[in-house]
Amino acid sequence: MPPLDRRSFLAGAGATALAWPGIAAAQGSGEPDIVVVGAGAAGIAAARRIAAAGRRCVVVEATDRIGGRCSTDTAIFGVPFDRGAHWLYGADINPVVKLAAGTGLDVYAAPPGQRVRIGRRYARESELEDFLAIVVRAHRAITEAARGKADVSCLQALPKDLLDWRASVEFIFGPLLYGKDLRELSAVDVSKAAERDQGAFCRQGVGALIERLAGGVTVRLSTPVTRINTWVRGKVEVETPRGTLVARAAIVTASTGVMAAGKIRFDPELPKRHVDAFARLGLGSQEQVVLELAGNPLGLQRDDLIYEKADGPRSAALLANMGDTPLCMVQLGGRLGRDLAGQGEAALVDYAQEWLAKLYGADIRKAVRRTHATRWSQAPFVMGSASAAAIGGYGARAALAEPVRDRVWFAGEATHETQWGTVAGAWLSGERAAEAAMRKLGYITTPRSAGEPAREAPRKPRSRPAPARPPAPPSWPF
Ligand SMILES: Cc1cc2nc3c(=O)[nH]c(=O)nc-3n(C[C@H](O)[C@H](O)[C@H](O)COP(=O)(O)OP(=O)(O)OC[C@H]3O[C@@H](n4cnc5c(N)ncnc54)[C@H](O)[C@@H]3O)c2cc1C
Repeated sequence: MPPLDRRSFLAGAGATALAWPGIAAAQGSGEPDIVVVGAGAAGIAAARRIAAAGRRCVVVEATDRIGGRCSTDTAIFGVPFDRGAHWLYGADINPVVKLAAGTGLDVYAAPPGQRVRIGRRYARESELEDFLAIVVRAHRAITEAARGKADVSCLQALPKDLLDWRASVEFIFGPLLYGKDLRELSAVDVSKAAERDQGAFCRQGVGALIERLAGGVTVRLSTPVTRINTWVRGKVEVETPRGTLVARAAIVTASTGVMAAGKIRFDPELPKRHVDAFARLGLGSQEQVVLELAGNPLGLQRDDLIYEKADGPRSAALLANMGDTPLCMVQLGGRLGRDLAGQGEAALVDYAQEWLAKLYGADIRKAVRRTHATRWSQAPFVMGSASAAAIGGYGARAALAEPVRDRVWFAGEATHETQWGTVAGAWLSGERAAEAAMRKLGYITTPRSAGEPAREAPRKPRSRPAPARPPAPPSWPF
């Protein structure tokens, strides 16, 4: 069973998290300069940037916790596991990894390599080479198609002759990586996505890391924003069931799913360009089923990553023995993920066990102790996993980066042109929006310094000529 030594191939603890104490107390000694809506990675990054500039900022969060799609649970299994983002990509340049060094949390490199299961055995080296060559060819075809005059779906872009690896390729480039089936995915959007390689894990969890990075940030939990009013000259009013905050600007980081569902009303209404952009950047579905397996019955190492040679769309991927715990995560997505999540947690757990039993034998079921499945597509303040542009929808990402009436800025993973769908992209987008808002308000007047976040992410897009090293499908499934 040859491990393929090229994973990249595939390529507050201290936060002031308060229950709402009433509007007067919320505003403390005066109005905040900027209100940030949402305490996920983008919102916390924005708030830190605003605070670093010496400005007053309040983060208003709908749920009762910090982190959004970065969510670490320790209660269910007694050890931490990530319900949302788990891989930190491009560890050498990832802003969150860089900041982790000062938190006391432990970030370690994900082991290289992955294995492919063909029925009850692992792929031989020659079979793996065939698979990886086909993966590279598929990705090149998507990149080539993206250079055409009109955008096409990733399904249209795929070569016809993917032999008996077709179902695996469709699963990896679709539900697993981007949460949508290939026919719904824009070739341009996928070709622009930065490589998801050089992964790292946080032993205490990515959610715990974002929470730790929120130290010192004022966050009002359990406070959903319902309306944002920009009629008043020079002000923005942010309404919640617990009162209204008044500030000079707002940065909104709610997911495109939440925005498209109209959960936040705008007065006056948002420009059509923004409304269309939210619709075009709909969220995919990615769900994770965590199984506690007694006695390592799969015989795998820490953080081993397993794909299967699929024979149809009902596939999944496995991350075994996460962080040296007995927890194994089965990851699935797309229409199947959304359907199962709609049916309930039991349906997801059943599916994961059935899939694992198919690959490792029915006795695996006997080793299963506790289980848990996420249902992100049902979470009312997320409504999916991450954005993926509809065909022709790539330009929507730049449209969202434009402010509304110079009072409201949008941030969040969907607004990042190359690192969309990732924690790093969300973080960078938050910093970028904070900087843009503060420049517009005159809070920052100095020229951009070398240390300030660039408008564009430092990661290279994949639309450049085909690299010698194969590009990125998944070292990280989601
Ligand atoms: C299952 C899964 C696995 C993933 N795996 C990875 C991975 O391994 N690596 C990776 O890099 N990325 C991964 N991602 C993607 C990553 O989690 C996201 O890109 C990133 O966390 C998004 O951050 P954000 O701040 O843009 O949005 P969010 O995290 O969604 O934050 C927005 C916040 O706004 C709040 N909010 C919404 N509406 C309102 C309202 N009306 N009022 C107030 N607050 C509101 C929400 O509650 C939320 O806290 C994964 C995502 C999922 C779901």
